[in-house]
Amino acid sequence: MTPERYAKILRVLSKRQPTLTVLMDQVNKPHNLSAIVRTCDAVGVLTAHAVPPGGGKPLDFEGNTSQATSGSAHKWVRVQMHADTLGAVRELQGQGVQVLATHLSQRSVDYREADYTRPTCVLLGAEKWGVADAAADAADGNIVIPMFGMVPSLNVSVAAATILFEAQRQRLAAGLYGAPQLSPEELARLAFEWGYPELAPMYRERGEAYPALDDQGQMLG
Ligand code: SAM
Repeated sequence: MTPERYAKILRVLSKRQPTLTVLMDQVNKPHNLSAIVRTCDAVGVLTAHAVPPGGGKPLDFEGNTSQATSGSAHKWVRVQMHADTLGAVRELQGQGVQVLATHLSQRSVDYREADYTRPTCVLLGAEKWGVADAAADAADGNIVIPMFGMVPSLNVSVAAATILFEAQRQRLAAGLYGAPQLSPEELARLAFEWGYPELAPMYRERGEAYPALDDQGQMLG
């Protein structure tokens, strides 16, 4: 790893927002999934969440379409899979995360009214069906992007970007990008995994700690 590469990795990790995430509920088109993950990378989401379509196979980021459209963002944003949406919503809420469902209902508010400086998960729905009523009801709030056109909804990746960049705006104003949100240990762990992706699995398999890195990103010892 070059010192420049290491410096970039540290710069990016120092802006990661472990308290901002998305839950993609059965988003089934690879290009939408990839576009959302790419936006997650841009705003600093550390881990995204997904429920695979139809309770089926884990989402595949290895297909050419996905890689081409994500610009390899899937390498820098972990996607944690969940078996079902309600379970995932409750698990996140149990961790103190407010879940905001993108859903039109009696209690929906304009997405700009939400406070994204709080630990937040934006719940995104499938292209055909949107967010299920049960998941929207279980969420802490329902948000919508006001629409004034003939077509009633946006593409899911466009909606995700619109909302996540509002979250970025609020978090910038609150200083959440000004200091690392990851612990020093987490930052060092991820810096090794990102800088030495071919070596990291070997250390994990052996149950060994990653080597420390010097200020140029070279392994010590
Ligand atoms: N027929 C679906 C419905 O009734 O919800 C349309 C789903 S839309 C194509 C796919 C997803 O994009 C939605 O579930 C939501 O996550 C997001 N989305 C689209 N337009 C939105 C808007 N105006 N406000 C908030 N989210 C939106």
